[in-house]
Amino acid sequence: MARKLTVKLRGEDRSLCTPAVLLPTCSGVVPFLTDELVAELCAKDVAEGSVVGAYVPYSELLESTKIMKKLGTCFRDFANVPDNLCMVVGCRSKSEATNANITKKNSAEAMSFKTHHGRVKVTPKEYCSDAADMVKPDILLQFAEETSSKNQNRLRKTSERAISWLKTCAAHDLGDANLVAALVGGVNERLREDHVNASVEIARQSAAGYAICELGIRENETASERLEIVQKSIAQLESIGEGDKIRLVSAGCLNLSELLELAAKGVDVLSTSYPLELTKSGKALVLPAPRQGNESKRRRVGDGDTVMDMNDKSYAHDHAPMVKGCECFACKTHTRAYIYHLIDAKEMLGQTLLFIHNAHCMLSAFRHMRSGIAQPRI
Ligand SMILES: [Zn+2]
Repeated sequence: MARKLTVKLRGEDRSLCTPAVLLPTCSGVVPFLTDELVAELCAKDVAEGSVVGAYVPYSELLESTKIMKKLGTCFRDFANVPDNLCMVVGCRSKSEATNANITKKNSAEAMSFKTHHGRVKVTPKEYCSDAADMVKPDILLQFAEETSSKNQNRLRKTSERAISWLKTCAAHDLGDANLVAALVGGVNERLREDHVNASVEIARQSAAGYAICELGIRENETASERLEIVQKSIAQLESIGEGDKIRLVSAGCLNLSELLELAAKGVDVLSTSYPLELTKSGKALVLPAPRQGNESKRRRVGDGDTVMDMNDKSYAHDHAPMVKGCECFACKTHTRAYIYHLIDAKEMLGQTLLFIHNAHCMLSAFRHMRSGIAQPRI
C-alpha cells in the first residue's frame, strides 16, 4: 500500500516527502539543466515542504574524485548542486544498467568499476570515504554488487559479499548520510529471504532503510516478476519489524506506469533513468488524464506510458503546445513545431526542453500521488 513518509535529511529544514522519484544524473549532474532550471523544476516540491532527490551513480563520480581531492573541494561545490537537491549515491550506473556492476574482476575485497581511464578497483572503505567526504549524500546505498545470473552459487556469493560489505559500511563514519542496506538474491525466493534475515541483524541498528536490488537487469524479466519480488521483500521486512524504514528501488529504466505501481505497493523512493532515455530518443511523456467520477479501470502492471515522438514530421507545422494542458516551461512557452525543428536540427535546446517536460511530468505524477495519500504513517 502506498504510504507517505517524511524523511528527515541533514540540515535543519530539509525533508524528503515520499513516495518520491529521483531525477537521474550524469556524472552527478542533472543532465541538460542549469542549477537555476533545476531549482525551478523543484519549486512545487519545495513549496510542499519537500526537497527533490537525485540519484548519483558512484561509478560515474569516480571520474572526478581525483580532481576534487586535488582541489580540496566537495562534490556539491564542485558541481554547483542546489542545496535543496537531495543526493542519493549508489554503486549502480544507469548507463551500465543491463550489465549491472558485476564482473569477474570483483573479489570479496573489492569491486571493479569501469572509468575512462580503465578499470578501477574500489574497496567498501574507499567507497564510504569517497561518498561521505566528497559527496556528503543524504542517502547512501551500501557498497554491493548486483548480478543478473540465475546460478545459485553466484547469487549466494553476491549475497555473502553484500552482508560483509554492509558491516564495513555500517562501521564507517558516514556523517549525516542515511545508510540503506541492499537486498539481493536474484530470482531465488529462498536466497532473498535468507539475505533479508542476515542483513537485518546489522541493518536494524545501523541502516535507515533497504534497497530492493537486482531488478531490471535480467534478460526477458517482466514487470510482474519485479513487482512480485518487491511485494515479497516488503512483506518480509514488515514481518520482522522493519516495515517503517525507507524502501528504495533503483532499477535502471523503469517507465512511469511501473514506478507508480511500485509506489502504490509501498516503495518510498524510486530511481529511474527513464526521463533521460525518453529525452535522448526525442520523446515527450503524456500524463494520463485524471480519472473521472467512479471510473475504476486500472492499467495492468507494466503497461506502457503514452509518449509523443517529437521526431515525427507531422509536428513540423503544428503550433499547439507540446502537451496541451501541461504547465511546464517547455509546453507553456514553445510549440510542437519549434521543438520538432530543434530535435530535427539536433540543437541541444531541443533536448533541454524535452528533459524539462519529462522531468516535470515525473515529479508531478509523484506529487499528485502524495497528495492522494491522506495521513502520514510515521
Ligand atoms: Zn510540458
